[in-house]
Amino acid sequence: MLLLTRTTPVEQVKKKTDGMTLFFADVDRNAIEVRELLKLGRHAVDTNMLFIDNLKVSAADLVGEEGRGFHTLLDGLNPERILIAAEAIGIGRSVVDRAVRYAKERIVFGRPIGQNQAIAHPLADAYAKLEVAELMMMKAAWLFDHNKPCGPEANIAKLRAAEAGFEACDRAVQTLGGYGYMQEYDVERFFRECRMLKIAPVSQEMVLNTISEHVLKLPRSY
Ligand SMILES: Cc1cc2nc3c(=O)[nH]c(=O)nc-3n(C[C@H](O)[C@H](O)[C@H](O)COP(=O)(O)OP(=O)(O)OC[C@H]3O[C@@H](n4cnc5c(N)ncnc54)[C@H](O)[C@@H]3O)c2cc1C
Repeated sequence: MLLLTRTTPVEQVKKKTDGMTLFFADVDRNAIEVRELLKLGRHAVDTNMLFIDNLKVSAADLVGEEGRGFHTLLDGLNPERILIAAEAIGIGRSVVDRAVRYAKERIVFGRPIGQNQAIAHPLADAYAKLEVAELMMMKAAWLFDHNKPCGPEANIAKLRAAEAGFEACDRAVQTLGGYGYMQEYDVERFFRECRMLKIAPVSQEMVLNTISEHVLKLPRSY
């Protein structure tokens, strides 16, 4: 596991984020108790609560520079946000496709439900929002690929994509009506999966805090 540890006491460093070191440590079950947490979705990957006591980590397992672990970790945050944005857009597109297919096939009162604008417009809107989110995601990815700063763009891409993806899932569930709630049609699973992207790896609120502080230069609120 990738383990961020404090290796210099906080009183001896200038910034709280200094004096931390990153290791790629073995999960030694004699020193680590692992308790799995039950989740709403994301069942392909388990999420655990760890209790670490007296874990010995080899100096050879150090990642990056001693004392600079937090900064090393930061290098991974922007690409993670871009990746999460892509995931949200992918989920969103998949559910819009499914909903559109269903809206063409399902006949109620003698015509396909997709002929009603109350069904068609929200799907068109969800589609449009996914397209816009993708542009932002591509911009952030381009900047990252060209070794340019991309913090605000990666954050905004994740903010908009998580929103657009979840909205698309919600519309898909609604379009399928009762079947939207049933496991058989899969959209309920995408709905659950997509909900997480508004929380992790960074919440929508913390993205807005970052934009407020670092882009708009407003005083930090927390
Ligand atoms: C399935 C899953 C997998 C995860 N995997 C990982 C992982 O691999 N590695 C890892 O490090 N983390 C992981 N996380 C943790 C995830 O990054 C955090 O849950 C997320 O960043 C939110 O932090 P928190 O849970 O501590 O919420 P809190 O900080 O307790 O916040 C709770 C709520 O209050 C809001 N809030 C808090 N402070 C403010 C403020 N100042 N202004 C406005 N709103 C505020 C938050 O936005 C949030 O909505 C995972 C989480 C989940 C759900």
